[in-house]
Amino acid sequence: MKFIQTRGVDPKKAEKVTFSEAILSPIASFGGLYVPEKLPELGEAFLQKHANSSYKELAKDMLDAFEIDIDGAVIDEALGLYDKFDDPKNPVPVVKVRENLYVSELYHGPTRAFKDMALQPFGAVLSSIAQRLNENYLILAATSGDTGPAALETFKNRANVKVACLYPDGGTSDVQRLQMVTEDGQNLKVIGIHGVFDDAQSALKRLLASENFKKALQQKDTKLSAANSVNFGRIIFQIIYHIHSYLELVRQGAIKLGEKVYLNVPSGNFGNALGGYYAWKMGLPVEKIIISSNENNVLTRLIRDGKYDLRGSEVVSTTSPAMDILKSSNVERVLFDLFGQERTKELMLSLEEQNFYELTDEELTQLQECFDADWCSGDEGKKYIKETFEKDGYLMDPHTATCMKSYETRSNPEIKSIVYSTAEWTKFSPVIANALTGEVDTKDIEALESISKVAKLEIPPMIKELFEKEIVQKTVIDKEKIEEEILKFL
Ligand SMILES: *Cc1c(COP(=O)(O)O)cnc(C)c1O
Repeated sequence: MKFIQTRGVDPKKAEKVTFSEAILSPIASFGGLYVPEKLPELGEAFLQKHANSSYKELAKDMLDAFEIDIDGAVIDEALGLYDKFDDPKNPVPVVKVRENLYVSELYHGPTRAFKDMALQPFGAVLSSIAQRLNENYLILAATSGDTGPAALETFKNRANVKVACLYPDGGTSDVQRLQMVTEDGQNLKVIGIHGVFDDAQSALKRLLASENFKKALQQKDTKLSAANSVNFGRIIFQIIYHIHSYLELVRQGAIKLGEKVYLNVPSGNFGNALGGYYAWKMGLPVEKIIISSNENNVLTRLIRDGKYDLRGSEVVSTTSPAMDILKSSNVERVLFDLFGQERTKELMLSLEEQNFYELTDEELTQLQECFDADWCSGDEGKKYIKETFEKDGYLMDPHTATCMKSYETRSNPEIKSIVYSTAEWTKFSPVIANALTGEVDTKDIEALESISKVAKLEIPPMIKELFEKEIVQKTVIDKEKIEEEILKFL
């Protein structure tokens, strides 16, 4: 299968690329993205066939359907990384919370957030491509807290790849920071920046576009790539768990094969939701995909009113920081799928130049056939955390909690809902402790212990250990010094 481009083709660029090429340089013509030329049609027969498959068997067959240029042995190694999850037989448990409401837990990997679902196998695939080409890559990552730990964990000590990871010093939770600064792989460099996440992100974009930086890397025989969520090498692994979660409901006897369900997705950059959309297009019976946001609610406004409007908007900090995003990059792939290359280019350029685009009535109708949306404030989210814990005995993190609002407001309660849980309680413990007990300004370690007591949950060993591990990554600098620091590391 070849990959085509969302904004049409610059004559200087190849019209179509392979999966490997799309992974190594994910930015297509005119700043667009790569998308599969045609999605495989799996249909109900595929679901039947995998009614009793393991996660890995399902994944392998789905990846085969994409006919990507990656060796079977490499795919096996990549999928083998799900064996590191809590339950190797089922890396993604789906738990019934109450009648018709199920939570698909995507956080049982090594860094306790759903980024592991895609980044674990992605690391193995990217490193194998680099080895096959006999090239060295520097992977840049900017993180507000979950991508960084997951990227470091997956690339640690892998051949032909080095990682430089930028995070805002003071802008992440203690657990997230410790997950990064205690990572000791020889090929990893973690850099704290005086500033906020946007500073880290703009620095990364500047470096990715800088010819000087590329030249300096060339002298060190190194090429540049990024592990951000527009990379199709991540998206492809995010289709699988939607199909798996559906089949789990069939196995639990909650639905009959063929019955439609809601997918309710806490969204930021829209990678998770896009995976669900592709699964649907490939034949998964879906009623609608419900997009949940926090106070940064551009996606709610797009899906309800057809306007992507960033004029005068600024990102606000919330209790669900992994969703504090205004430019939700993967929406572009849905626009492409629904409206085609020319219109996508027009809309995306309008967003870049005027911070705004508006769909026609007809386009909005098409979008609403697939999606619905709502947003949830931090206070409402805490109320849902407390209520779901007290009524249903289920503890959720603040990102997952945003889905409880849209579940109530946007879905037909007769139809089963799958809510995606993107982080374990351990990653955002101060907010959860506050929701459960009212305690304020607690540090992560105290909050972890108080939740553990109240909810009678063990703190998992990889989180507990963080507080005793040696801090090996000590660099914290001004953003002007980033380039120099990275070159020194190489
Ligand atoms: C990354 C992340 C999200 C947002 O996922 P997208 O695929 O970017 O929409 C939501 N919750 C958590 C905890 C995350 O880490």
